[in-house]
Amino acid sequence: MKETLIETFSPEETFEVGRKIGEKAYGGMVVTLTGDLGAGKTVFTKGLAAGLGITELVNSPTFTILQIYEGGRYPFYHFDVYRIGDISEMEEIGYEDCFYGEGVCLVEWADLIEEILPEHFLHVTISTDMERGFYYRTIRLEEK
Ligand code: ADP
Ligand code: MG
Repeated sequence: MKETLIETFSPEETFEVGRKIGEKAYGGMVVTLTGDLGAGKTVFTKGLAAGLGITELVNSPTFTILQIYEGGRYPFYHFDVYRIGDISEMEEIGYEDCFYGEGVCLVEWADLIEEILPEHFLHVTISTDMERGFYYRTIRLEEK
């Protein structure tokens, strides 16, 4: 398992980390994203979408589990499974066509659907450390 730790000191830097991953993303890639409220998950996701060439505004999919963005180099499937009741809801959405399709998936709160995650994915964890300052974040990238 490969692991990389990146420190950022502004939202722009976190956006850039996401953008670089989006630029190197490939069809069928699954990224899982973990971090407390306000950690910077949406900032990171916007960066990743920009790296995919998506110009549409990307936001947290608060009221829908899945938001689909076309128009980039790959379709971008943005899942937020925070409000999911059980796995059958993922099946109703047709998650398999996304996870095992030609697009790029990003899943927030992926620990809630651990049993259906694919064999390999990139796990991203964003953490704050208030002792290091208001704008400090660590971004852990784990290839699983
Ligand atoms: P989440 O989606 O994880 O709830 P957001 O991305 O919506 O969080 O918000 C993160 C907030 O933290 C934004 O207001 C952003 O400006 C701020 N912020 C401060 N420093 C950073 C940093 N280094 N990386 C990302 N966001 C940061
Ligand atoms: Mg968010």
